[in-house]
Amino acid sequence: MTIRVTVWGENVHEQKNKVVAEVYPKTMHGTIAAALNAAAGITAGTVTLQDPEHGLTAEKLAETDVLIWWGHAAHGAVDDRIVERVCNAVWGGMGVIFLHSAHFSKPFKRLMGAPCNLTWREAGERERIWVTSRQHPIARGIPDHFELETEEMYGEPFGVPEPLETVFISWFQGGEVFRSGLTYRRGAGNIFYFRPGHETYPTYHQPIVQQVIANAVRWAHNPERRIADPNEAPNTPVEKALEPIVERGPRLHHAGEKGYR
Ligand code: ZN
Repeated sequence: MTIRVTVWGENVHEQKNKVVAEVYPKTMHGTIAAALNAAAGITAGTVTLQDPEHGLTAEKLAETDVLIWWGHAAHGAVDDRIVERVCNAVWGGMGVIFLHSAHFSKPFKRLMGAPCNLTWREAGERERIWVTSRQHPIARGIPDHFELETEEMYGEPFGVPEPLETVFISWFQGGEVFRSGLTYRRGAGNIFYFRPGHETYPTYHQPIVQQVIANAVRWAHNPERRIADPNEAPNTPVEKALEPIVERGPRLHHAGEKGYR
């Protein structure tokens, strides 16, 4: 069985910034998708912010097992209706991986329900990433630690809820540390946040980073059938109770009535 991945790219800096265009001549999302297509059992395509409905139509999400999100300069340009559609797909069982500056993307903030803020510095410093969860499937084949010679610094405190698991932490040359690989479960959907990937550095060309992302795709994939409406909140009437009960006391709702939203 092949895991179907959609890589969502903001595609702004690749078009407007000469440095980024030189580091990623095939775009960031194109580079990530190409690496995933070289990995066993994964097929990856790309969509961008500029596509109709940002490329995330209901049909596209229905045929996406795992969505990867990279955004930075244009978080505010993402349509709230598409954000809601993405969150619904996650709650229904779609896996999602948020990369680097996607910590401030609308869908990540909506799924986390928290500020998702952090400290940062753009100084091309060394990042040393440590595995904190040995034998975790996302760390498969990854040594106890590895280094990215030039990266942007992200530092604690990271304003996210306590994760399900911390798979990686990072140390930066300037002294800060950061929880750089975090898992969450929201509804039926598996979520992974992975920190590296500032657009002026060749991070997504690194085989070890590509390996982490491929591992995360396999971990995030939920093979169960997608929940059609994860927001459904049905009323179970007295006569449908599993054990016979007699209704007591006053009530607010009429039988069969929909609940408040
Ligand atoms: Zn950055």
